Order: sequence, then C-alpha cells, then structure tokens
Amino acid sequence: MSTTARRVANFIGGEWTGAASGRTYARENPAATSEIVIEAPDSDASDVAQAVEHVAVGRHAWSRLPPEARAAVLYRAADILASRADQMAAELVREEGKTLAEARAETRRTPANVRMYAGEALRLTGQSYPDAGALVVTQREPVGVVAAITPWNFPLNIPSRKLGPALAAGNGVVFKPSELTPLLGQRLVEALLEAGVPGSALAMVHGHAEVGKALVSDPRVGAVTFTGSTAVGEAIHASVSPWARCQLETGGKNAVLVWDDADLDLAADIVVRGAFGLAGQACTGTSRVVAHERIAGDLLDRLSKRTRAIVVGNGLDDGVTMGPLASAAQQDKFHAYLDAAAAEGGVLETPPPGGDPAGGYFARPAIFTGVRPGHRLAQEEVFAPILAVLTVSSYDEAVEVVNGTAYGLSAAIATGDVGIALRFSRDAEAGLVKVNQPTTGMAMNAPFGGLKKSSTQTFKEQGGDSAMQFYTREKTVYFSAEETS
Ligand code: NAD
Repeated sequence: MSTTARRVANFIGGEWTGAASGRTYARENPAATSEIVIEAPDSDASDVAQAVEHVAVGRHAWSRLPPEARAAVLYRAADILASRADQMAAELVREEGKTLAEARAETRRTPANVRMYAGEALRLTGQSYPDAGALVVTQREPVGVVAAITPWNFPLNIPSRKLGPALAAGNGVVFKPSELTPLLGQRLVEALLEAGVPGSALAMVHGHAEVGKALVSDPRVGAVTFTGSTAVGEAIHASVSPWARCQLETGGKNAVLVWDDADLDLAADIVVRGAFGLAGQACTGTSRVVAHERIAGDLLDRLSKRTRAIVVGNGLDDGVTMGPLASAAQQDKFHAYLDAAAAEGGVLETPPPGGDPAGGYFARPAIFTGVRPGHRLAQEEVFAPILAVLTVSSYDEAVEVVNGTAYGLSAAIATGDVGIALRFSRDAEAGLVKVNQPTTGMAMNAPFGGLKKSSTQTFKEQGGDSAMQFYTREKTVYFSAEETS
C-alpha cells in the first residue's frame, strides 16, 4: 500500500472501529490508479446490526435536547466544515476525481447546507384545531432511526442533505457512504461528532452493497433515504418494511430543448456545462440535446468547438477542465456506450484524435449525432461524458422526445420566447425545469426531486421544510378542556 493511503474506520457505539471480520478494501486515485488513497473497513451485516442497535437505543439523548441545542451543534459542525473546505477539496479530487474547482464548489456548499438545516430544528411547528371540550394540536417528532445511503458523485454534499435535516429533527442516523468515497463521508461524520452530536445518535458503516442491503431491511430503521441508481433504488424499495418511510433519489436522462430562436452561444454553453461538468457524472447532467432542425447544424458547430477545448486530466493539475471517471466500472460503461451508439448508427462528432491521458480512468467527451429516440443512447442513463443530439421539427415532437424516457429528473429549454418557455415548464415531465440554465445545479433552499423513475413521489429532498417533512412524523394530541375538579 502507498504511504499516502489513509485509513478510515467505522463509527459504531461511540467508537472508531474496524469491520468485525477484520476485512478491509483499498480505494485507488481515479486519476493515478497505481496510487492507493484509502483503506476502509469492508463491513458486513453484523457491523450493520450493531450500528443500528446502538443508535436505536442511544438516539434519545439527542432527540430530547431542546431544538436550539441541536441547532447550535449543527451550526458548529457547519463552521468546522467551512474551516476545512480547502483541505477536503484536495482530498475529494484524489478520492473521487473531480477538478479542484468542482471539488471546492462542493466543499463550500456542504457547510451552507448544514447551516440551513440547523435553523430548521427551530421551525418544526404544528397546528391547532378547534374542538368542543378539547384543545387538539399536532406536533412533529423524529421518525427514529434513519438509514442514509449515498453515491460517490457528491460524497459530501448529498450526505449533508440527508444527515443535516435528519439530525436537526432529532433522529438517530446510520450512514453508509459510497464504497468509492469513504474518506469524504468520514469527514462529514468527524465534523458532526466534533461539534457535539453524541456518538450514541450517529453511526457510520463503510463497505459495499452488502452493508446497504442489511441496513434497509433492518426492522428497527424507521426511514430509509437513498440516493443512487434507479436499479438499486428499486431493489431497496422492495426490501424496506412497508411500515418504514422510503425516499429514493435516482437516475436521470436529462434533455435540453434548443428552440429555433435560442441564443446559440448561450445554448451551447448551457449544454456543454450540463453534459461534461463532473465528467458527465451528475444525476442532473445533460445527456440529450433536442435541437430544432432549423438550428441543429449551427448548434452542433458550437457544441463541437467547446467540447474540443475541454482539457482532460488530473483535477489537481492547472488548466484541467475535466477530471477522470470515478472507477474502472465507469470507464468500461463509457466504452460500452460508445460501441452501442456506433452500432445503432450514431455518428461520433468528437473527440479529436490524440488519445486519452494515461494512468487514470480518463475519457474524452463525446457527442453523437444520428441518434433516434428509441436508441439506447437516447433512453438509458449513461452517467459518463456522452451527449446524444436529436433533431425535431415541431414543438409537439420536441415534447414527445424530451418526455419519451423512463426518467424525469431535470429538463431545460433554451429560448428567448417566454410563451414557449411557459408551455415547456408545463409540458416537461421532470421534477426540475430550467429556462436558459443548465439541467445541472440547484438552489439549496428549493425542493429537489424528479418524476417517474427519478424519485419516489412522496417527500422531496432539500429545501428546508420540504426535507423536514420526511424526517418527522406528525402526532395529534388532545388536551381535555373539561374542568377536572
Ligand atoms: P449505486 O446505486 O450503485 O450505489 C449507491 C449506494 O447504494 C452506494 O453506497 C452503494 O454501496 C449502495 N448499494 C448498492 N447496492 C445496494 C443494495 N442492493 N442495497 C442497498 N444499498 C446498495 O449508485 P452510484 O454508482 O453510487 O451512483 C450513481 C447513480 O446515482 C446514478 O444513477 C445517478 O443518477 C444517481 N444519483 C442520483 C442523484 C439524485 O439526486 N437523483 C444524485 C446523485 C447520483
């Protein structure tokens, strides 16, 4: 193992510990795969059972704290995270593969998330109802033990959107970070514990799918919050007890519709940012551009020019604008989709000749034309830097193509026509609709989630009270107003 590898640990029952089996696994730097950056516990169901047991029993010390005390702890955690933003950004580049600029954006957003949810602890209000002879009120209380399972592409930001509101509401949490990004998951937990979240109310178990499976099927878990692929989300939904809550934030097949009056430079900027930011590994990333046939050629020229200017390499190096893919599996999938697209008649417009940088899971961004709505490249989530260009000749056809997938996460339109933009915001089957903005990026205080196979349709993630609804349950309490003596 490289001397620079860091060891991370599980946190169970108030102690940092290895897996009960003693097993570990190694995580390599995706930009320099011979460098091992992390060694992490390879946990199993017995570690999960212990973690859930401790939190189920120990969480009450946290939930009974006054809300202002919970808020104060979370404000402190936000300050700690903010003070470590630059250090964590460098770690994030080495662990996940982002560019430094992308990593900094994430490590700066995370403390802001935690700060926002700290305030929500004080806003858990109820209602009162008129009733003869009684005072009837509702109160919101924590759900109990929350299981949080997260992916690798935002290993700090996404967990903060789950642990922040879950803890603000007074829940205990068992957190399973992605196996590809154990260190960044651990950084969040360290900050929360240092700030004063009691070790009895928070646990973290590192490992692979086995850990997640054991966690979601544990009957002591009151709520499962998951972000990841649609296939795993569906498997989780089938395992969660019908009496527990389940929130799934899953895949996307996001499109930008470029209308014939669009500012094509602006449209090309939006599409390329959405498609190739984070090396195409964003759930809201643009994987299809649906172009009006009148402007498709001019748009393609602009897309190709911008895409050829992207510099692929190690995210810590100056001038690099796209890092590697996160794993060998991601790189294999990228190549498989290049082959599938070509086999279906797609025409590769980029990349330029010259080969990929060596030593990491690098991929050059690819744009395909000649893609038809039924092709795999137009239907399946690729989650890598491949953009499919489809052309349409009418608004109705455009809406049919944009909506013609199983997913419904984010959709955007580039147009100067307010009327078309309004029609599109009504017609697009997507949880987020953007006008003259990339499909990626979101306001931290607004509800977030998709339609169709991109989200469960129960509680939205993010956005203050919208998130708190998932992490609290409502109780109706009657006080007799009769005289007792
Ligand atoms: P993934 O589904 O493979 O894994 C996500 C997490 O689930 C990991 O921690 C993994 O170990 C765990 N897991 C795997 N199998 C499991 C099982 N059977 N039971 C329980 N847990 C299990 O996803 P990924 O590769 O980490 O992330 C990429 C996916 O995440 C993409 O599909 C992307 O669209 C999606 N994503 C969605 C959003 C969103 O908000 N909608 C945000 C980011 C990423």
